[in-house]
Amino acid sequence: MASEPNHVLEFPGGYTRSVGPVIGRFLSELRDGRIVGVRTAGGRVLVPPAEYDPDTGEDTTREFVEVGPAGTVTTWAWVPEPRPGHPLDRPFAWALIRPDGADTALLHALDVGDHAEPPRLLKTGLRVRPKWRAERTGGIGDIECFRPEVTMITAPTRLEYRLRGGRALDRFLEGIEQGKIIGHRCDVCGQVIVPMKGLCPKDGVPTTQEVELPDTGTVTTFAVNNLPDPRAPEVPFVSAYILLDGAGLTMLTLVAGLPADQVRMGMRVRAAWRPRAEWTRAMSNIKWFEPLDEPDVPFDDIKDYL
Ligand SMILES: [Zn+2]
Repeated sequence: MASEPNHVLEFPGGYTRSVGPVIGRFLSELRDGRIVGVRTAGGRVLVPPAEYDPDTGEDTTREFVEVGPAGTVTTWAWVPEPRPGHPLDRPFAWALIRPDGADTALLHALDVGDHAEPPRLLKTGLRVRPKWRAERTGGIGDIECFRPEVTMITAPTRLEYRLRGGRALDRFLEGIEQGKIIGHRCDVCGQVIVPMKGLCPKDGVPTTQEVELPDTGTVTTFAVNNLPDPRAPEVPFVSAYILLDGAGLTMLTLVAGLPADQVRMGMRVRAAWRPRAEWTRAMSNIKWFEPLDEPDVPFDDIKDYL
């Protein structure tokens, strides 16, 4: 990262040096909201496209290939104090970005949000997408900047239990109504997903193979909450991601039955079910998870599930 800042900062002018048929095509496609590269005789895809293969000096094939628009950061240089003429007026990064399907990278501004220092997410391999201008003129500036892909959302997992979440979730709650925790095993990766959603989030394939899981598991991560919550027994309470034994994904739940400051990663827990007479078709049949009298699981065994 940031190894060749001078090279990076000088590069942008290069786009407009020669508007021959090849660069012309590139800019025309940009105006239409597409990024194209050109294929070399050897099969590589150059972005921005060039008339000659820089490796061999041979003409490129003139076969244009649409790439991206998403891509991967290959290197970057942080600009803490943008100057007049820079594409952004707050700290940003110049980044070399290799669009998906391309073999080379193009340089552009990367907006990672309002940060004085490079944020932790900014690293080689970061997935990014272009922010297109509404009015485009056929220049590299038709892409205002690149921005990180949305890879994480604050998922209100517990809300999903209250929604009618389709057949898979119905079936999960049917199990809960009978005191059973049912998951789906993915045919591709073999992992058990619980609560199942009818789809493996990793492979994107439908899942149907039911597996009953025990109601014991391991705390992977947790948070101590100081605001009252109707589901929690008291304040402070602990919400935690628990890896049920045999499951490949964690689920979010409450942990109780011990002081909040004694909850720890790797702690073994078991579901605390409400009395059977109170069971309904709802996740609330499990009040929370309580500690089991078992040794903690070593961090190495859960680190892949964090
Ligand atoms: Zn899978």
